[in-house]
Amino acid sequence: MSDEATVDDASVIVVGGGPAGLSAALFAAKNGLETTLFDTDETWMHKAHLFNYLGIGSVGGSEFMATARQQVDDFGADRRQNEEVTAVSEAGDGFVVETSVVSETQRADGDAVDADGEYEADFVVLATGANRDIADDLGVAFAEDGTVDVGVEMETSLAGVYATGAMVRAEEWQAAIAVGDGAAAALNILSSVRGEHYHDFNVPADAERVFGNHLAE
Ligand SMILES: Cc1cc2nc3c(=O)[nH]c(=O)nc-3n(C[C@H](O)[C@H](O)[C@H](O)COP(=O)(O)OP(=O)(O)OC[C@H]3O[C@@H](n4cnc5c(N)ncnc54)[C@H](O)[C@@H]3O)c2cc1C
Repeated sequence: MSDEATVDDASVIVVGGGPAGLSAALFAAKNGLETTLFDTDETWMHKAHLFNYLGIGSVGGSEFMATARQQVDDFGADRRQNEEVTAVSEAGDGFVVETSVVSETQRADGDAVDADGEYEADFVVLATGANRDIADDLGVAFAEDGTVDVGVEMETSLAGVYATGAMVRAEEWQAAIAVGDGAAAALNILSSVRGEHYHDFNVPADAERVFGNHLAE
């Protein structure tokens, strides 16, 4: 992205809306990045029932997804359900993302999605589960075990492209880990945009301001 860009006009596209992608979108949108997420709804979560997600006793995978999607929508991300990303390419300081609509659907804002699209963003977060085709097509580095090679910042060998969740791990496939990866990617993008380490910390007064009378005990 250009040197003059700020958090107010930086944009991120998230490819994939499982736990990793939704977490990246939540942190990005909550903290002011223009955030668009594409998802084809083939997340493994629809097969799961979680007993091992810290802080939640027991929750069905699809129920977890419904809550997570609502959270992401509430923070203002543009979640485009059933729109598949077919290609990602470098363009100038950013990226161009091409999409194809899998089936006509209503977006969160009520608009019908029925046409293929082309979108631009400063950053891309890949969160496509165990499918690593887009990362491969982009030419990012892979580790010897066939996973996408990232460090704790989740940035790939291609600056501005992050990879998260099942695509960066051979075996540790857990929702809690995927959610952490997505959060780390978004926070590192925010740090990169702001030019200093970014913390998304909230205190009780923030919760009262945001949720008011709806605040849970
Ligand atoms: C039977 C089963 C039980 C499980 N039980 C548990 C459990 O008890 N606890 C636990 O923590 N984990 C469990 N898991 C694992 C958990 O579901 C995964 O760790 C988690 O879903 C990985 O998240 P992710 O975001 O990396 O990928 P995914 O959840 O796979 O999400 C990837 C998303 O990207 C979308 N996508 C892919 N390509 C594109 C594209 N080109 N364009 C747009 N969208 C795209 C997919 O449709 C999908 O929705 C279970 C998994 C299975 C299969």
